Amino acid sequence: RLEIRNLVRVFDGRRVVDDVSLHIRAGQVTCLLGPSGCGKSTTLRMIAGVEMQDSGEIYVDGKLICDTVFRVPPERRAIGLMFQDFALFPHLSVAGNVAFGLKGSREEKRARVEELLARVSLGGHIDSYPHQLSGGEQQRVALARALAPRPRIMLMDEPFSGLDNRLRDGIRDDTLALLKEEDAAVLLVTHEPEEAMRMADEIALMRGGRIVQQGAPYNVYTRPADRAAVAFFSDIN
Ligand code: ATP
Ligand code: MG
Repeated sequence: RLEIRNLVRVFDGRRVVDDVSLHIRAGQVTCLLGPSGCGKSTTLRMIAGVEMQDSGEIYVDGKLICDTVFRVPPERRAIGLMFQDFALFPHLSVAGNVAFGLKGSREEKRARVEELLARVSLGGHIDSYPHQLSGGEQQRVALARALAPRPRIMLMDEPFSGLDNRLRDGIRDDTLALLKEEDAAVLLVTHEPEEAMRMADEIALMRGGRIVQQGAPYNVYTRPADRAAVAFFSDIN
């Protein structure tokens, strides 16, 4: 599970992330939902360890991984990452991408790669290269790569926004099913209320660096905390 306490990040004297606390259990998806510039990606980057907070603590499975003096490096945090642009390695095959960063014997790695690619219905593309795949297929490779080392935490920053509208709902559902099977604690960043309603066990509504409301999707949707939250949710048809 992932726990963050009172995270603060200041840029140019402005509290871009302002006292954010979250608790996400294994097997749960929390959506960090809010308008552009509210501090979602900055929050994610601090958890990933590629950005340093000014104050606050981060815990994984109850163990401190980062405060203002102590810091576990990003590659040792057991955190999987997935971004909008997928960021696949262009010079590595699909298998190479998914195996990247895996430990163990050649046979163990191969078995995990084959298991995951079969799971995302890409068994037939194991030796393809990223440029030979559609956007949806690349998304699935990125998902398989992020999950391959069995991360306890998955951080996803707008992972569906580059996809064709007609594909998106199906891919969201497939992604959610796989995340549940792998039992990771998931923090998914989005600015689309519809996506949060579809995928989240819990929604954390963010604005101006702060979490203004948090709860089950139905509760957040039917009882918005304030007028700004109402306006934000009115995007959903
Ligand atoms: P979006 O939905 O557009 O991706 P976001 O919620 O992810 O937005 P962030 O990327 O976290 O927003 O940025 C929050 C604020 O912090 C923005 O106003 C941004 O300009 C500012 N910011 C982010 N990184 C830096 C930086 N390295 N230096 C200065 N300001 C920054
Ligand atoms: Mg962002």
